[in-house]
Formats: sequence, C-alpha cells, structure tokens
Amino acid sequence: MVLEGGCYCGKVRYVAEGEPRLRAQCHCRACQHISGGGPNYFMLMPPEGFRYVKGAPKSFRRDDLKAPVTREFCEVCGAHIANRRPGLPFVILKIGTLDDPTLYGAAQMAMFTAEKPPFHVIPEGPAGVQRPAAALNGEAAERASTALTSRRNIASAPFPTLPIV
Ligand SMILES: [Zn+2]
Ligand SMILES: [Zn+2]
Repeated sequence: MVLEGGCYCGKVRYVAEGEPRLRAQCHCRACQHISGGGPNYFMLMPPEGFRYVKGAPKSFRRDDLKAPVTREFCEVCGAHIANRRPGLPFVILKIGTLDDPTLYGAAQMAMFTAEKPPFHVIPEGPAGVQRPAAALNGEAAERASTALTSRRNIASAPFPTLPIV
C-alpha cells in the first residue's frame, strides 16, 4: 500500500510505501506525553519505502537514556510524524498524520499497558487487542510490568517482540 501524510501545518510531507508490519497502540508514559494524553496509534512501515517528499523534520533524542528513540516532528507546528527505535528495522509511523487515518484499520496489539491510565480504551474482539501482557515476552514483559515505577526503564527498553494477534 501507499500511504501519504504530513504534519498539521503541511510544511512536512511523506510517502510510506509497503505493507505495514504491525498496527498497534502504545500506552507508555512517553507516548502519553507526545500524544497529548491518549495512546499512541502507529504502524510499523518498512524504512526503504518511507521518504519525506516535502520539507524535512526536526529530530529529537533524549541524551539521558541509553538507547533513546529518535522522534521526527515538524519544527513549525510541532506535530510528531515518526519515531525510529535502535534495533527496530521499521519506521514507527504515527497514524494521526495520515491523510486518511482510517487506513490504519484497528490495532493488533496494545503495548506497555502497565502504564495505561484508566481512561485509555483497548478495543475488544477479533480485530482488537485481547492479551496485551502475553504479547510481550521475556525481559521486555518483565520490564513492562514493573515499569510503573520507572519511566526511564520503559523508555529505554527494547521494543517488545511483535506477534500479530
Ligand atoms: Zn507542520
Ligand atoms: Zn509508547
């Protein structure tokens, strides 16, 4: 599929070609900060098919974390467009920037639900997310479950294994 989108003011535009590896929603505290309070809805897209076609994003990386994500956003309007996580061979595309956000469909997975405030909604049903805790495994799951006490841990944890549910 070919996805097009851009920031809120239109100064930065992108095209993302290829099949999404995962559609998910993340409930971690970092995503809450960036999203404005809700979960972060994203698609993992192949980096070779992702390119900026107008303008260029600013990027930000926390220097107090061991393996911080790089956040790409418009320097004019501040809208976040994508993240890149060390060791993850996909672009984490934030679906609010899509020209047609309905192409997202539905989340296949909810992540870092240990940090979820009560008002976040996780959809149910076959297309929704049923067992978020089981979707994480090994060390990442352990970190996620104990992450409430440490934002630093969660922000620097490796991306969990990515089963399609
Ligand atoms: Zn903008
Ligand atoms: Zn997150």
